[in-house]
Amino acid sequence: MSHLSVLAIASEAFPLVKTGGLADVVGALPAALRREGVAVRTLIPGYRRVLAATWDATVVHTMPALHGGAARIRASSVDGFDVLVLDAPHLFDRPGNPYLGPDRKAWPDNAQRFAALAAAGAALARGAAAGFAPHVVHAHDWQAGLVPAYLHFGPAPRPATVMTVHNLAFQGQYPRSVFAELGLPPHAFGIDGVEYYGDVGYLKAGIALADCITTVSPTYAAEIRSPDAGMGLDGLLRKRADVLLGIRNGIDDDVWNPASDPHIAVRYDATCLEFRAQNKNALQARFGLAPDPDALLFAIVSRLTWQKGSDLVLDTLPELLHTGGQLAVLGSGDAELEHRFAAAVKAHPGRVAIVRDLDEPLAHQMHGGADALLMPSRFEPCGLTQLIALRYGVVPVVARVGGLADTIVDASEMALAAGAGTGIQFAPTTREMLEAALDRTARLWRDRSVWHRIQRHAMRCDVGWRRPAREYATLFRQLAARAA
Ligand code: ADP
Repeated sequence: MSHLSVLAIASEAFPLVKTGGLADVVGALPAALRREGVAVRTLIPGYRRVLAATWDATVVHTMPALHGGAARIRASSVDGFDVLVLDAPHLFDRPGNPYLGPDRKAWPDNAQRFAALAAAGAALARGAAAGFAPHVVHAHDWQAGLVPAYLHFGPAPRPATVMTVHNLAFQGQYPRSVFAELGLPPHAFGIDGVEYYGDVGYLKAGIALADCITTVSPTYAAEIRSPDAGMGLDGLLRKRADVLLGIRNGIDDDVWNPASDPHIAVRYDATCLEFRAQNKNALQARFGLAPDPDALLFAIVSRLTWQKGSDLVLDTLPELLHTGGQLAVLGSGDAELEHRFAAAVKAHPGRVAIVRDLDEPLAHQMHGGADALLMPSRFEPCGLTQLIALRYGVVPVVARVGGLADTIVDASEMALAAGAGTGIQFAPTTREMLEAALDRTARLWRDRSVWHRIQRHAMRCDVGWRRPAREYATLFRQLAARAA
């Protein structure tokens, strides 16, 4: 197998910095691709905590003037993850969240920060770091959306470009005045370039100008070509449909493995599901829920937003509780939803509880002990938590959209008879259908032998990165061959 070199550019990578699934994907894909003969180096911003974790990184390129200050690109390796850090303190060396200031509003210079990331990525793509000449550049989400633009409007030859959309809801749209700061030629501001309804669109630019576009599940790749899910970009996505491809995400099955998970009280596999009882008990204690082994314990590990259907969970709470269920929530998000969850906790002590943190070990404990995972998303590009749930024998209750449609097999009678059935699906994402799904879930729970069968089916699923990595590797090789 010949060696292929890829430069990935993203705003997050687990474990260095994570606010969502993007970080998991960017962090895990390189190791899986290495097994396919693809070497990935990943450029991420030098946020304060990234700088701290890579203090020994060596400088491979300097940029004396990058959006108002000097910048350096530094290379390091963190547990085998080959990282390139954009060390630009005036843009990234700040406390807190990568995108939001202490006031929970977007940093006012996000347009400049992520234009800088893309410019640095484009420089590396063109060989700025000695000895590194990538065949393919892989841009993730809007924060890297300008990379294909810089390469497209720059001199030939250039490496092939892939734009991966992890969530079309976040687009990086900025006023036209930003264009003058980007250093792109005047003709780049046009319908076939970076212009987006009179503004500058970073994700739009990537989708318009990359050689190939991927998104994180086949169903989402189809959905986003329609006005309903296209979020204003469906016309462009239809136009580019011949180079648009869905590759489902995987999870790192070493990090997420109930047989070796250091965060859970009792480790287990599909042959000893009864061990989960102790984890459930520990989880109930952690959340202050009644220590009832027979209560159907639902977990939510998620941002609390309209996308994730968090409002529907609150609306259907009476049904969930009526059937004897409990609800443990790990997550934070929209202020109003957080407020409503807090009120629900007060109204139902011992039956509803929330931890409003980002807590990686607790996320593991939720999967190790909960019975079901609730994911009533209105749209879901792929979703990772349902994949983790499958691996841990937590039964996912999901809306039939995007990656949830692709990864969960509804436990209908027919599916169960055929030895399939890994969760409960419902559609459309409405209060009524979620109520019906909760009802079905409770009925399945009452027959524990059926429930255990669903758990075992779930745990047999291939949710790792091997297959998707193979698809990425094939795509990268095709693009590199064409570009050569
Ligand atoms: P998103 O749309 O937020 O990216 P995904 O399901 O694709 O949703 O990925 C979410 C990732 O973030 C998963 O790894 C999940 O376990 C993790 N996660 C979400 N909320 C929390 C939280 N409060 N604490 C710890 N991990 C979380």
